[in-house]
Amino acid sequence: MQCPRCFWLDVRLKIKRPSSPPFNINKAIDELFKKEFDVYREKGEQHPLMKDNNLDGILPYKHAELDKWRENFVGVVHLHESTNLHLFGAVDDIWSDKDGKLIVVDYKATAKDKPVTKLGPEGTWQDMYRRQMEIYQWLLKQNGFDVSDTGYFVYATGTQDRDGFNNVVEFDTHVFPHHGNSDWVEDTVKKMKQVMDSDEMPPVGTAAMGGPCEHCEYAKARTKLTLDFVQKRKS
Ligand code: SF4
Repeated sequence: MQCPRCFWLDVRLKIKRPSSPPFNINKAIDELFKKEFDVYREKGEQHPLMKDNNLDGILPYKHAELDKWRENFVGVVHLHESTNLHLFGAVDDIWSDKDGKLIVVDYKATAKDKPVTKLGPEGTWQDMYRRQMEIYQWLLKQNGFDVSDTGYFVYATGTQDRDGFNNVVEFDTHVFPHHGNSDWVEDTVKKMKQVMDSDEMPPVGTAAMGGPCEHCEYAKARTKLTLDFVQKRKS
């Protein structure tokens, strides 16, 4: 969805774009949310956040495979027959609605002046969050489940509005829906396969990306400097 060139460099030559440090605090919050929701899953009851948000009839979903679906690098798996690609994604949680449809749930955590109560507008980096939820919905559908198009974000915002840290950050958690549309997935998987199979390095960026990203600008500047230096030494 971002740039075919870096995807090609990654899958064909194992050259990866620089990664950022792991978000360990966010991971800890995800884990704690999971433990919390599991208590209510076991009891077959609504979590207080569901009650507070009037999510009538919605319950944490029980399934023998749930732990596998939540495990990183295992997740919900689908073998896409026409491309022979093994696709997977690890969900944060699954709930079910009153009609028994599965609901994809994604936990998010951040720190901001004001609590997050909805995603940013389309066309911003938060489209990544929308696509993330939509691909999980698609994967579960490919596995034959009846999946609701409405998923939920459980979004915890840490506040800086306190006198000191004192080993405590207080969070304000909001639950809000996203109405997913997975129509883009099938075409994207086919395009991925085309890019992977190509012996030619594909072009940089896409129209949606609006030009090269900051990594490319950096790489170009470094390359130019090196080439200028080599040229100077030759002359
Ligand atoms: S713009 Fe350049 S660095 Fe950025 S993703 Fe594309 S090829 Fe990679």
